[in-house]
Amino acid sequence: MTRPRILVLGTGGTIAGSAGSATGGGYRAGGLALSAMLDAAAKLGLEAELVGEPIAQIGSQDMGWDQWSALHAACLAACGDPAISGIIITHGTDTAEETALLLDLTLPAGKPVVLVGAMRPADAVGSDGLRNLANGVAVASDPQGGGRGVMVVMGDAVFAAVDVRKAATANIDAFRGFPRGPIARVTPSQITWFGPPHRADAPAAYAWPQSLPRVAILTAGAGMDEKPVEALLGIGCKGIVLAGMGQGNAPGCVLDALAAAAKADIAVVRSSRVDEGMVERNVEVDDDAHGFVAARALGPAKARILLQVLLANGISDPAGVQAAFDNL
Ligand code: ASP
Repeated sequence: MTRPRILVLGTGGTIAGSAGSATGGGYRAGGLALSAMLDAAAKLGLEAELVGEPIAQIGSQDMGWDQWSALHAACLAACGDPAISGIIITHGTDTAEETALLLDLTLPAGKPVVLVGAMRPADAVGSDGLRNLANGVAVASDPQGGGRGVMVVMGDAVFAAVDVRKAATANIDAFRGFPRGPIARVTPSQITWFGPPHRADAPAAYAWPQSLPRVAILTAGAGMDEKPVEALLGIGCKGIVLAGMGQGNAPGCVLDALAAAAKADIAVVRSSRVDEGMVERNVEVDDDAHGFVAARALGPAKARILLQVLLANGISDPAGVQAAFDNL
């Protein structure tokens, strides 16, 4: 039987990080070349052929348009290449959820696309990188892995891009899914899917944009005033995502300033600074009157990505933006 061929796109992150000491505290994310990781993976006896393509060697805190464009183009080419069974992206964990959602919104759902990372650098005692990579290979090679959109594989769990978020700064078990938990559990030798593919044969939901508009996240805090809203408008933001208190709340003066922005055709999305839970329309804030959108299950980082993609695709009216958040 021929082994599945998996394209591995390297971007850096802690999975490619080196501390120079097995027990030291500091390290540099993205210091190791993708080829070093693939050499180590070759010794694991995986049932797949891994083909590497370096995209970047950065900490994912520096991830942005150039890397995303390169990733999207490489994934799209691989989706159309019958020799490739699946795609793995090695990625820093800090912004894995943003890259995962951006690609999920703009790629067809046919082949598995899997982001893997690590919470401990490659040379640290107890490093999780190779384990996550081996698990990612199992997911990307699995005939059941397609039709589920982009996934993040960390800590023996598989998360859908729409659900996943980093929930801890340093634990190995740092990722959570909301509103769904993991969609599968995985080890290098076994996968248990918890349901059928939810996006079988779905085309890309949105076109890949020419650029992404400036959208800022504004975190609400007790006692704040409306000046930060004015500052964001002053630098030309086309959209503002409120990381509000509780169910997307903010002081009255801030909501008034945001309502004025919405009246001036700036898209305003209310999400929550709280870790988990829905932000629904018209609960404590009158979204209908203010022209706001409720982020529903998306946290601020992913709400910003979705809003950028919508604005870039010409969807900016509150009803259209709300429908996209509702239908995610
Ligand atoms: N700052 C690192 C990154 O996101 C953290 C990690 O990979 O875990 O690239």
